[in-house]
Amino acid sequence: MQNEIALFNELCDQLFKAESNQPVAQLIPTTEIYNQLDLSLNADGIIDEELKNTLAQIIKSTPKTASKSFFNQLFGGRNGKATLGDLLAVMLNNSMYTYKVAGPQVGIEKQILKNICALAGYSETSDGTLAPGGSMSNMMALIMARDAKNVSIRTHGLTSKMTLYTSSESHYSISKNAALIGIGRNHVRAVNTNKKGEMLADHLNKLIENDISKGFQPFFVNATAGTTVLGAFDDIEAISKVCKKHNLWLHVDGAYCGSVIFSDTYKHLVKGLKLSDSFSVNAHKMLGTPLSCSIIVTQHRAQLHHSFSNEADYLYQTDGDEFNLGKTSLQCGRRNDALKLWTLWKSIGTKGLEKIVDKQFEMAQIARDYIKNHKDYTLYSFEDSISVCFNYKAISASKLCTALYENSELMVGFGKFNNQEFVRMVTINNLLEKEDILTFFETLESFVAKNISKITTS
Ligand SMILES: *Cc1c(COP(=O)(O)O)cnc(C)c1O
Repeated sequence: MQNEIALFNELCDQLFKAESNQPVAQLIPTTEIYNQLDLSLNADGIIDEELKNTLAQIIKSTPKTASKSFFNQLFGGRNGKATLGDLLAVMLNNSMYTYKVAGPQVGIEKQILKNICALAGYSETSDGTLAPGGSMSNMMALIMARDAKNVSIRTHGLTSKMTLYTSSESHYSISKNAALIGIGRNHVRAVNTNKKGEMLADHLNKLIENDISKGFQPFFVNATAGTTVLGAFDDIEAISKVCKKHNLWLHVDGAYCGSVIFSDTYKHLVKGLKLSDSFSVNAHKMLGTPLSCSIIVTQHRAQLHHSFSNEADYLYQTDGDEFNLGKTSLQCGRRNDALKLWTLWKSIGTKGLEKIVDKQFEMAQIARDYIKNHKDYTLYSFEDSISVCFNYKAISASKLCTALYENSELMVGFGKFNNQEFVRMVTINNLLEKEDILTFFETLESFVAKNISKITTS
């Protein structure tokens, strides 16, 4: 193993150099990938020197998500302390299902959950788990809501036409999960939003009442804290009133921006969070931990256990359920996603996490100000969002973003709202400073000046 650690350090040095020398890796077209890199797997292995060279080649051409030219979707940068925690988790290689196998790592995960429940304003009966990503966290919320509505579903399967509600701007995992858990995509109702992309509680109520009158059984509402395109925050208090009226489970999908709970300045964006039944947040998005680190908490500890526990005497042989986390998780064998967040949190404190969150809003504000002050730009996003949506000189956003990527200039994506397409620059990368934001616009402008005919005709 010592050799591999030495090699790891050597390869990391090369990665760091590549990140600053060529922050956007040269694109290898998909048709060329197997010609340009030796990705083949053969009967015979290769000598270490050759392996090293092959790995170095692969690293060189892999997209650099930690570079300061990465503004693509919803994660980026690299946090040293969080990365250290994740590297240790790999070395320790525990499975998080039992205390016997994971020991203090279980305590670490439980500590994170406890603190997040407290920050969410959740009661003493709350608990949670770490899921393999925000989509799976949302699925766990859906399953708990489904089982809470009808206790016999776990044994008998679905017997009624259950409906759920989420805004037209919410993440696609809600309808995908509806298909996966037997609810059916046709039973997902898309609630309208206002012009800022926030769910309309009145329309939600109307859809629910309409379904009830037709014999459907509404059971779940998803509110989003940071919609995937615009970064909008649904009004949790208003939505909660509708949920209470009809006795529906309210989940808050904070995968993107739920980390505002760490900020005194921005936690008002999730006002009323304590009224929800479950809440999920991705630390691998705003907090900048390595992928993946998704947390789901619920006020209903018993429901979490009821929906996800399964007896298995070959697995659970010591300690109580409280420390055998397999009894409340989606998987059996489970990666240790807790240690990276704990290492980060322990080292910089909750106040340090607050700074990470605040900084991203500050960077987004700098970007919005730049756009407002330069007449060649049109701005489409709003205050209190780290998604900065704009168009430049009426150039097609999709063509511009693709050209920037193919020419190794910038990694940035595009999005759509109300049939308007725009560039979506995301200031989620923790390493960004004001000059990096300005460099982004400079790079974009000089690229367009030199390549305008190419972009508009391609
Ligand atoms: C990213 C995102 C998800 C999905 O999270 P994954 O970890 O990518 O599965 C869910 N909801 C919202 C609002 C998101 O932005």
